[in-house]
Amino acid sequence: MRPLRRVSLFQVMAVGRRVSHCAVEGYGWTSGFHEFILIRMSQSNIENVIIIGSGPAGYTAAIYTSRALLKPLMFEGEEAGGQLMITTEVENFPGFPEGVTGPELMEHMRKQAERFGTRFQRKNVTKVDLKQRPFKVWVGDTMYLTKTVIIATGAKAKYLGLPSEKTFANKGVSACATCDGAFFRDMDVAVIGGGDTAMEEATFLTRFAKKVFIIHRRDSFRASKIMADKALKNPKIEVLWNTVVDEVIGDKFVTGAKITNTVTGEKKTLPIQGFFLAIGHEPNTKVLEGQLKTDETGYLVTKPHSSKTDIEGVFACGDVQDHHYRQAITAAGSGCMAAIDAERWLEANPS
Ligand SMILES: Cc1cc2nc3c(=O)[nH]c(=O)nc-3n(C[C@H](O)[C@H](O)[C@H](O)COP(=O)(O)OP(=O)(O)OC[C@H]3O[C@@H](n4cnc5c(N)ncnc54)[C@H](O)[C@@H]3O)c2cc1C
Repeated sequence: MRPLRRVSLFQVMAVGRRVSHCAVEGYGWTSGFHEFILIRMSQSNIENVIIIGSGPAGYTAAIYTSRALLKPLMFEGEEAGGQLMITTEVENFPGFPEGVTGPELMEHMRKQAERFGTRFQRKNVTKVDLKQRPFKVWVGDTMYLTKTVIIATGAKAKYLGLPSEKTFANKGVSACATCDGAFFRDMDVAVIGGGDTAMEEATFLTRFAKKVFIIHRRDSFRASKIMADKALKNPKIEVLWNTVVDEVIGDKFVTGAKITNTVTGEKKTLPIQGFFLAIGHEPNTKVLEGQLKTDETGYLVTKPHSSKTDIEGVFACGDVQDHHYRQAITAAGSGCMAAIDAERWLEANPS
């Protein structure tokens, strides 16, 4: 083992595997394959706020924190822009009377955040340590220190895993009835699932669709009785029990679904134009490694009427903490809350 010695920033970067990119000085030694660096950080090397995730929630948090002169650092993730990047038409985001494509909307938000000085890195955060302040955020081997963290990592809709779901994404396959239901006026659609979300989405879709099939793999719903009864009483809804989907079919757009009755073995093609997945969402919380309080389905828990998590100085916004509304505008709204909460927290905790 070599003795502890003073090293320059360049040496720190070259030798250390576990160092902050913004380290200015430190002491290091090497031992076998493992190299460690003790970093003596100056206060100016600690970020005010790191934002993880770049959907509507993250970008809104970036707009507000950068306008508050906090110079936020945002890790956009490798899939920058979030869920709306795979959407063609967004008709319900205020301020766009003619509608706007998802990628265009996200580009606007990013530019607005950039205008006020947000710094971006198109990288996935791979690890965080929220046990003590300053918090540590890693991207691969590079560590960043920060006084506050805003988590805006969103959620992913669950799909059945059929290749044809991908083929017809935005061409009749959707995981959001609130977002896309209005595109299916007077058409026949199917909702896949048996929980409360499936009941809610199916009932909502009856406003537009001519007929709504609920395709469910079991012979009873997991949904609450009140939600299930509401759906079952709706004359536009027909339930296909004990049924699984083998494939979504179509040409340019969806024209049907190949289905199998698991009890009788009967196979048939159901003619539909819309195919709505309602089998749940998965919040993107893996990187947090159980450090923050979550609910039973893995969503981050925030304190009522705020974006505060159970760790002071750590805030959460958007779909990662909201399994109820899951809309771009609600995500953006909660991003604003997180920014204001972080700003006030920094003001109250200046050191
Ligand atoms: C197909 C589709 C169509 C939709 N249409 C509409 C619509 O018309 N209107 C509407 O209001 N809503 C719509 N929604 C819902 C809307 O997209 C979401 O509610 C909204 O995007 C949630 O925003 P968010 O910022 O919370 O997260 P997301 O948009 O999910 O963004 C999360 C971001 O975090 C990043 N991230 C995750 N993990 C990490 C990590 N470890 N490090 C760094 N970054 C990370 C991701 O890459 C992503 O960029 C639609 C959703 C889908 C899937």
